Amino acid sequence: MVKEGLIVYNSLTRKKESFTALNPPYVGMYVCGPTVYGEAHLGHARGAVTFDIVFRYLRALGYKVRYVRNITDVGHLEQDADDGEDKIGKKARLDKLEPMEVVKYYTDNYHQVMEKLNVLPPSIEPQASGHIPEQISMIEEIIKNGYAYENKGSVYFDVEKYATVHHYGQLSGRVIEDQQSGTRNLDGQDTKKSPLDFALWKKANPEHIMRWSSPWGEGFPGWHLECSAMSSKYLGNIFDIHGGGMDLLFPHHECEVAQSVACHHEQPARFWMHNNMITINGQKMGKSLGNFITMNELFSGQHPALEQAYSPMTIRFFILQAHYRSTLDFSNEALKAAQKGLTKLINGLRVLEKLSYPSEESEKDEKLNKELLELSENCYKGLNDDFNTAITIASLFNLLKKINSLYTKSIDVNLIEGKVFLHMKETFKTIITDILGLCEEDTVDPATFIDGLLELYKEAKANKQYDKVDAIRALFKKEGLVIKDMKHGIDWAYEE
Ligand code: ZN
Repeated sequence: MVKEGLIVYNSLTRKKESFTALNPPYVGMYVCGPTVYGEAHLGHARGAVTFDIVFRYLRALGYKVRYVRNITDVGHLEQDADDGEDKIGKKARLDKLEPMEVVKYYTDNYHQVMEKLNVLPPSIEPQASGHIPEQISMIEEIIKNGYAYENKGSVYFDVEKYATVHHYGQLSGRVIEDQQSGTRNLDGQDTKKSPLDFALWKKANPEHIMRWSSPWGEGFPGWHLECSAMSSKYLGNIFDIHGGGMDLLFPHHECEVAQSVACHHEQPARFWMHNNMITINGQKMGKSLGNFITMNELFSGQHPALEQAYSPMTIRFFILQAHYRSTLDFSNEALKAAQKGLTKLINGLRVLEKLSYPSEESEKDEKLNKELLELSENCYKGLNDDFNTAITIASLFNLLKKINSLYTKSIDVNLIEGKVFLHMKETFKTIITDILGLCEEDTVDPATFIDGLLELYKEAKANKQYDKVDAIRALFKKEGLVIKDMKHGIDWAYEE
């Protein structure tokens, strides 16, 4: 049973629209994943967490989601351009590794970081290099349809020709005439008819490592093509949602639209969603600016810009505190505030577990019940309004105030109706753990507790308080541990 009422901002129409699936209860979602030539950073985290919420919430509404997120391991050239070195090829050359060693290393790093952030793995995670035949057939089809041409072993998409029939710039809102006047310089692009054209296939220079045979000679696919080929392979020519970072809107996604229309005569996705970027102390994040922080540096605190380590859940909560379409500014202050906020919610969950509903009949407070129902509903309102987690989190804090009052007994639980109590409990827990994906982290060091208990044991023994001694021994036994009394002191061991 699919619940209705979800509104999604569609980058294609530039307005909020009511979400309906092409084939309910099935939803096909494609999200552009990482180019794996460096460690996962905050930008990766924001994109992945954004679409993890979309994935989780659609499932919570009753949809069966096929979520495809790709790994770009070939064809992504420097400056996101048509010329220059392949990002992975370059890293392989500098580190004296096979390109696929680079790909494996950074794909593993990405997966480890995602697991720590409690980002669910996608249903399918295809790699561009594993889909070369699919990309070649797509190019052949585009050439056949008259929207691409081959020149000296490379194949280019003919943007001007396409624009005479279709709307190029539909997604990004860019006007083709403005682009023509701005990019007349054809230096180094002498195999293209127009600077607007983009590569579908590139002839490989002798020094280029990653290369495949094709009808046009040895070469490699253009960066934009993989997503068109893999999304149509796994989700069909038209699917429900296509997502990615705002920086991919142009040229990457605009080119994807053009390729799909030129090949399948159809715009591929019904909804296009774009998450905004993360800035660091108000500045764009970049390696040259010295403010580039990887996720592992954040988790360990090992970076000059960091005042402390931040846990994965703190970072997840920090990302969720903003709506995905707003920019999000990173600072130590903001992360410390996120840490506090998260702790309050997690404590709320613990309190909620301890709250029980009385079995006796009693008089109910109608106004209070209405208020609690409304506070619970408000938590879903944010999610339904274009996955606005900022509003949902604010609503959770409003509900938390009531939960804490019930716990301290400043509100009498007897005044609440059973079904309202259950609804409140269910909403708070489901949204925090299942939809926002926040969970309790191990922050308590058991060794500190064991050492403390051993001290108490020693004291009790010295004072001949044998009932205490026995109680502490029993506590250890319950955990599968034994206390060892030795001549030179006291220690503990695992029970054999
Ligand atoms: Zn893509």
